Amino acid sequence: MTTRTDAAGNLIGRYEGQAPGAPALLIGSHLDSVRNAGRYDGTLGVMLGIEVVAHLAAQGERLPFAIEVIGFGDEEGSRFPTSMLTSRAVAGTLDALPLDTVDASGTTLHDVLRQNGLDPARYLEAAYRPEQVVAYLEAHIEQGPVLETAGLGVGVVTAIAAQYRFKVSIQGVAGHAGTMPMSLRKDALAAAAQAMVAIERIGANGPPDLVATVGQLHVGPGASNVVPGQTTFSLDIRAGTAQVRDQATTRICEALQNIADERGVDLSIELQNDLPATPCNPALTACLAASVTRITGQAAHHLVSGAGHDAMVMAALTPVCMLFLRCHQGISHNPAEAVRHDDAHTAFLVMLDFIRAFATTTAHKPTEFSA
Ligand SMILES: [Zn+2]
Repeated sequence: MTTRTDAAGNLIGRYEGQAPGAPALLIGSHLDSVRNAGRYDGTLGVMLGIEVVAHLAAQGERLPFAIEVIGFGDEEGSRFPTSMLTSRAVAGTLDALPLDTVDASGTTLHDVLRQNGLDPARYLEAAYRPEQVVAYLEAHIEQGPVLETAGLGVGVVTAIAAQYRFKVSIQGVAGHAGTMPMSLRKDALAAAAQAMVAIERIGANGPPDLVATVGQLHVGPGASNVVPGQTTFSLDIRAGTAQVRDQATTRICEALQNIADERGVDLSIELQNDLPATPCNPALTACLAASVTRITGQAAHHLVSGAGHDAMVMAALTPVCMLFLRCHQGISHNPAEAVRHDDAHTAFLVMLDFIRAFATTTAHKPTEFSA
């Protein structure tokens, strides 16, 4: 492959097709991680793309389309309150960069880009035109227990769940832990604790694909002898459809407002991320499922992804499909994350089969393709 780093910092390898400059099948996932992460989340999908191209190159096999393997960054939103900035840049859905947003140390995104040799003013030039690509394929660990429970090495994703990420702030009144009577307190942390229990209850009482999580909590002033005056916490809500997610969100917002009213504290809920549900392309998904059946000898298992992936962003640019790999006990975002070698090999064979099958269809010819 010829390799380059694009204007958004993505690492891209290109393997030409039968004719140079042909539109590309994109195979990608992300190279960034959460803190204290595992080895496979994101990275495995990039490595599988590289392995597939290595195999084709070793055979001298060229396809009617080019293949580009993309290693995205900022999929997880670990450093800044953003996510999928670099795939959004590639998909052309990023209108402007939040350059003034800061990380935990107060460094702006602008400065971080500069420090890493990128020109913030040119970031959006990473965008592809739709006619440059034919489809997007992403392989990723499931990050859940469904495939392992079913005794399957791989599965085919039908859709990626709709997701909201909020920043919730509660303003109470700080006071002396020794002298402020209980009856007069406006304890922001106690209010947050009550809010979290309500969030968990509403999440648990919904359909199985609904999940609601508080994963970050900051307490101010944060001293053992001070009644907490201020808390902020994250709120993540996901479901297979926007309707389920939005109904749960409405219930949670009402519950939090009631808690704030009862306790006489101020509440603000700020939307930070709104990712709609993304259906994978039905024709590509059927093609991928057929490859799974040919390689494994079993009918493909279909599942919804509760986790967000670059594929959901790339769907704005081109038809997408996703292959999931079994991961041990569904553990992810954890150093214990583990994938079986034979499953990785199965995924490799499925991807190779899919690419060859896709090459025999007319679907990769943009003029004849309807998403
Ligand atoms: Zn991932």
